[in-house]
Amino acid sequence: MRIGRELKSTSDCFYPSMLFTKTQGGETTEVLIETFIRKQLRLKAHTVTRVEETEEAMIVHIDRLGKRLLRCGVCGLRCREVHSIRKEREWRDLSMRKLPLKLRYRPRRVECPRCGVRVEDFPWAEPWARVTTALANAVAVLARELSWQGTAREYGLDWKSVATIVKRAVQYGLKQRARPPVHVIGIDEVSRRKGQVYLTVVYDLERRVLLWVGEDRTEEAVKKFFTEEMGRRRCHTLRVVCMDMWAPYANLVRDYAVNAQVLFDRFHIVKHLNEAVDETRRELWRQLTSKERVGFKGTRWLLLKNPWNLNDHQKERLSTLVRWNTPLVRAWYLKESFQLFWGYQQPGRAKQHLFKWMNSAVRSKLEPFKKFVRMLRSHLDGVLAWTKTRVSNGAVEGMNNKIKSISHRSFGFRSAKNFIAAIYHCCARLPLPTEP
Ligand SMILES: [Zn+2]
Repeated sequence: MRIGRELKSTSDCFYPSMLFTKTQGGETTEVLIETFIRKQLRLKAHTVTRVEETEEAMIVHIDRLGKRLLRCGVCGLRCREVHSIRKEREWRDLSMRKLPLKLRYRPRRVECPRCGVRVEDFPWAEPWARVTTALANAVAVLARELSWQGTAREYGLDWKSVATIVKRAVQYGLKQRARPPVHVIGIDEVSRRKGQVYLTVVYDLERRVLLWVGEDRTEEAVKKFFTEEMGRRRCHTLRVVCMDMWAPYANLVRDYAVNAQVLFDRFHIVKHLNEAVDETRRELWRQLTSKERVGFKGTRWLLLKNPWNLNDHQKERLSTLVRWNTPLVRAWYLKESFQLFWGYQQPGRAKQHLFKWMNSAVRSKLEPFKKFVRMLRSHLDGVLAWTKTRVSNGAVEGMNNKIKSISHRSFGFRSAKNFIAAIYHCCARLPLPTEP
């Protein structure tokens, strides 16, 4: 088969675009497609013997090139002796125009001086893979944007192949990724399947990248981050660890990240405040009798009317309204006045504000707020740390939303392992395997 074009660079691995850039200085060189593919695959000890075009695929037959030395598939050492030839294997590659491209080759088993008899190393694919590295990388890149189902459809693969490719890419990426010193981290949880299963995620808040995902949200589960991912030495550079007051792993920071300040982050504190307001409202609603509830509907106008114009029934309804509203107004006021805390520059002032606030919250006799204050009191150090550090888990929220969208677009991963792989793949900026 002959095609007209000049061969130049090797960096572009997408064949179809290569076929139709034609001239250089007005000249067109004819190149055998076999040569073209050989160069694209960067074969040295192998060659393309034949390209066969069938209805549903282009099949590239590969063979060993003369007596060139093959490499051991385990250690990569060049081996003199070929032990045996195995039966033909097939690899999927990036498509040629519309047609899927398949490589066919009979792998050799070589006698490696170091490892013994092993299957040779394939320059176009990982030893385990049934697709070429070029295709695997293209799939991995797309799987960062689309669901695994969508990616599979795009490349004519099945879901399982995509899952395998992504998991291998993550495995490789975790092994190869750079691990610069980490100073500020945020720990948070994400739920899967409507809050039945929890995962813990750890982010580097300076680089805004995911560091670790683990199953569950217990102290025992999160411990693995400090012992396995970080290790003793790297834990020493941690300065701030951002987390929720409600989280059970503050002790871990004391044990493992000895130089770090625990910071109970703004985002979660505000969330708990809002929950206290909500809880107050629900509590009041529960206390109302059903008659009062019915009477309460559409009573807002009572407030706008002059009191002397109200009849007895209306006065009764207004008093219910006020009785119902007063605690809620207090709750709102408490919530709003707490927010001033974030603005203070001086730690002393911030502390003073917080103490005053806690006193008034306790006096409010609103049970959800008293509970909130008890929580603050037992975590004061980590709450007051805000004024000095000003780190917020805000970036974490963006990441958590991304994780939610990963979960949604894949209709919820059945297994936690797959979900974790997908999270790493999309949020950890892992390097992809390199092609030869
Ligand atoms: Zn070897």
